[in-house]
Amino acid sequence: MSEAPSAGTPYPYDAPASQALFDRAAAVTPGGVNSPVRAFRAVGGTPRFMVSGSGPYLTDADGREYVDLVCSWGPMILGHSHPEVIAAVQEAVARGTSFGTPGEGEVALAEEMVARIEPLEQVRLVSSGTEATMSAIRLARGFTRRTKVIKFAGCYHGHVDSLLAAAGSGVATFALPDTPGVTGAQAGDTIVLPYNDLESVHEAFHRYPGEIACVITEASPGNMGVVPPQPGFNQGLKDACGKNGALYISDEVMTGFRTSRAGWYGVDGVKPDLMTFGKVMGGGFPAAAFGGRADVMEHLAPAGPVYQAGTLSGNPVATAAGLAQLRLLDEAAYDTIDEVSRTIQGLVTEALTKEGVAHRLQNASNMFSVFFTDREVRTYEDAKRQESFRFTAFFHSMLAQGVYLPPSSFESWFVSTAHDERAVQRIADALPAAARAAAEATAE
Ligand SMILES: *Cc1c(COP(=O)(O)O)cnc(C)c1O
Repeated sequence: MSEAPSAGTPYPYDAPASQALFDRAAAVTPGGVNSPVRAFRAVGGTPRFMVSGSGPYLTDADGREYVDLVCSWGPMILGHSHPEVIAAVQEAVARGTSFGTPGEGEVALAEEMVARIEPLEQVRLVSSGTEATMSAIRLARGFTRRTKVIKFAGCYHGHVDSLLAAAGSGVATFALPDTPGVTGAQAGDTIVLPYNDLESVHEAFHRYPGEIACVITEASPGNMGVVPPQPGFNQGLKDACGKNGALYISDEVMTGFRTSRAGWYGVDGVKPDLMTFGKVMGGGFPAAAFGGRADVMEHLAPAGPVYQAGTLSGNPVATAAGLAQLRLLDEAAYDTIDEVSRTIQGLVTEALTKEGVAHRLQNASNMFSVFFTDREVRTYEDAKRQESFRFTAFFHSMLAQGVYLPPSSFESWFVSTAHDERAVQRIADALPAAARAAAEATAE
């Protein structure tokens, strides 16, 4: 379905080539996209079909250039088409693209990861973050021989059936499926609790003694906007798991190798039993992983009884890209990213404050997002209380001025080492008008 906005909509209909592609896509792909958020449904308008990326910029099918603050949802931490990553990929491709055998590239990538993150004793490579969390949960259940899983409202762990569950009313009630296609049985062993609420975690362990296999949490959530853990929250989870014989799974698919050299573990130092990775570690290719305590990982096939496999796992091109990217991510690179992030956060706050727009800028190291509310956001319920209509106006003004933001107010913004002064200046130039648009926006 093509969605050409009618007259009076707050965004200019100025992407004819993207619209033509979107029309073609809609005929052969549900909703015209291969991942829902790309369809711009939260903000309306025509999704931009990108044709190339270079450094901090993306160019769309209409030939317009944007400063990219999505970075492919995190992976492009060195910017687009980084010459050294591209060279590593070309070199790997020239040797063949998939062998279905073990290869050195996957060993080297695993070694690099294990060297950076102390609790990561062993890793298993997979192809997506979803596969990583799905496999980690299976392993936790196989290892503990228990069935129930605790997750938090607002944390996203990919589209794993049992994790696509929303909380029923009240604390520690069993989850209801969040989407048709997930059965009550699949969601029924999932306990969904409010984020940042340790009390409810203790209650759940008390209520289901010996039944909870694991607690899975985003190391620092970025999928309800950026909502960092309150001080002591992750440690509290770890302690509760330790006391009750459950595993603590830290989902670092977004934060891994992004929020520091050692991801969020490098920031809070809380040692998980299992961790999951994706995004940055693939260098823009489908590579992801889960890993952690060797005594737990040894339960995986073929070393142990818990089955897990993948035709393209450890793919030589993907692992070459990921390894090249990780090797370039030294302390200096993270200093650059942190600095750029701070600068952009400051500019956004300044512009919104000047226009009197109530907002909260929240960050987890260099990940950040803006909530259009004046209250601190600690839970998904808090996040949902923001004035999203202001984000819509803000987003379209930025887009029209050549700045590509995540097309939803429930997503983190991402920067890269390639966001230089020129790119930042373009953001700064666009912000005053966008802040004005946010101030003038009205709820429908
Ligand atoms: C992106 C993400 C996933 C899912 O990864 P995919 O590669 O999209 O399957 C899982 N967990 C977190 C925290 C994520 O941000």
